Amino acid sequence: MVASASGRRSAARTRTRRASAVVVPQPGVVVGLDVGGTSINATVLDGFGVFLVDRLHETPSRVLEGPQVAVEALAEALAGVLQTTALRRDAVRGVGLDTPGPASAAGVISSKGGTNFNQPEWHGFDIRGSLEARLGLPVVYTNDANAAALYAHHVHFGPEAGSRSSVAAIVGTGLGGGVVESGRVVQGAAGMAGELGHVQIPMHGLLAEGQPMPVCNCGFVGDAESVASLSGIVNNLLPFWLSRYPDHELHRAGSVRAAALLVRKYAEAGDPMARQIFEQQAAALGRLFTIAANFTDPHAYFLGGGVVETEPHFREWFLAEVRRNTLLREEQQRSATLALVPDRDMAGARGAAIAARDTLEPLG
Ligand SMILES: [Zn+2]
Repeated sequence: MVASASGRRSAARTRTRRASAVVVPQPGVVVGLDVGGTSINATVLDGFGVFLVDRLHETPSRVLEGPQVAVEALAEALAGVLQTTALRRDAVRGVGLDTPGPASAAGVISSKGGTNFNQPEWHGFDIRGSLEARLGLPVVYTNDANAAALYAHHVHFGPEAGSRSSVAAIVGTGLGGGVVESGRVVQGAAGMAGELGHVQIPMHGLLAEGQPMPVCNCGFVGDAESVASLSGIVNNLLPFWLSRYPDHELHRAGSVRAAALLVRKYAEAGDPMARQIFEQQAAALGRLFTIAANFTDPHAYFLGGGVVETEPHFREWFLAEVRRNTLLREEQQRSATLALVPDRDMAGARGAAIAARDTLEPLG
């Protein structure tokens, strides 16, 4: 089991300052741009490691209108956040960009597209290179789960971030992840490191009697995402558990997907079927972290996404279940913590900005 998170948030590298405050421009700010299906969230990180925006700074992402329109929307988001922080464009050293995957480490959208990038023009589109050409500024690409992982790491460890390691699992439609070593995201040879959702985990003792082996959208049987994600609930967990509860209200939700979106509310209210679904998700996450413990033995395990944006009593129960299923050696128990990814909505933009700062050559 993992010791409780101390909840400490270091002030040193990730402090925030009100956007409305008078800001003295520091040479070498970086801008973080987090691209989602509907909006771009923008932030600014200055040369002292201070975020100059302390709230969501959103503009439309226009990704459904294709790459050219979306790149223009990114340029507008950059201009907008500079205006908000009263910074001149020549103060910007570079831009950190993050999007949902799948994309290469160099910021080329998968040749098969992705959830937010499914028109043909997006397939194989070099969003990083296109934005760099449009802005005339260096652009550093990170995928959104890696960006959130990096942000959690820096908030948690503060000035010690560069000498610490962590893994993060972000539960959403899928199960995103990130591995951070010595303060840097591990990208891997093909840019596919940290795809924790597609790590196969032991199912023995996790599945109920008669429960079919869960299958992931990626084709793997019994990987972490096949259980610990909204897709896992829709495709695998809910169909089985509804068959065990023939009188459950969620049979009348209209569709499995509609029912899946309601499961968390039921679990928060103590519904036995919904609790069993989340018990299985927590067990999957704990087993995933157990693999991480034996693989890289990180200092911290971070959990993020909708599953932790819940009622405190449910969140604490869920975290305790994850902890109970994370099997650490005695020595590891003393040094490791399990903590939440903070500032969920801003974590992507902020992590992308940190990645850009750490990748770009220092000034002078
Ligand atoms: Zn998978």
